[in-house]
Amino acid sequence: QVSATTEPHYTIATDTTFPPFEFQGKNGKYVGIDMDLLAAIAKKEHFTYKLTPMSFNSATQSVLSGQIDGVIAGMTITDEREAVFDFSKSYYKTGIIMAVNKASKIKKLTDLKGKTVALKTGTGSAEYARGIQKKYGFKVTYFNDSNTMYNDVKVGNSDATFEDMPVMQYAIKNGVALKIVTKPTLAGYYGFAVKKGQNKALLQAFNSGLAKIKADGTYQKIVNKYLDASA
Ligand code: GLN
Repeated sequence: QVSATTEPHYTIATDTTFPPFEFQGKNGKYVGIDMDLLAAIAKKEHFTYKLTPMSFNSATQSVLSGQIDGVIAGMTITDEREAVFDFSKSYYKTGIIMAVNKASKIKKLTDLKGKTVALKTGTGSAEYARGIQKKYGFKVTYFNDSNTMYNDVKVGNSDATFEDMPVMQYAIKNGVALKIVTKPTLAGYYGFAVKKGQNKALLQAFNSGLAKIKADGTYQKIVNKYLDASA
């Protein structure tokens, strides 16, 4: 018999708001696909955790500095990150799209000349945008969270933004007055991450729990709870 007090305890960081993966529910409690996956995995693997929401950039930096054990934040597995993080098995597919104000005439990257693009610090989308900035001749402005970034485009301070496709689709479906104008690029997958070489037991537990909840249908149930499977 293993008593609750002997269960390993971890600190986990997440993004302040990245629906449908993490966001505050009506009572202020964090909900979303990442949150439910983590809870289900912790239960299966018998560990407990303290969740700390912060900006995505702080979340990844806190793990690298060793202040936090792991991060689950719709974090894309990339080669650059794999140099400093160990990732779990992937759990969701993504890609980067450009979104603009619903009323905007911007349709493609070449329309961005002289325009301002809103980016979220430390994200793959920001990295992607910086890589094409010279070619398309746009200016950039940075935000710490997706909501504020979308709002800057909505009110017209910024002309466009780059964001993960499933997240932008969900936001638009839930009333954010932007539209997606490009096909997804840089297809990738989300993974749970720890600092490279650290927290091996936590990473192993995450992978083991993920396999179990995929096998028993819990994973699909969680995804369906937030995303209409037929959509
Ligand atoms: N998937 C993107 C990345 O990993 C954005 C994550 C986020 O904003 N929470 O960079």
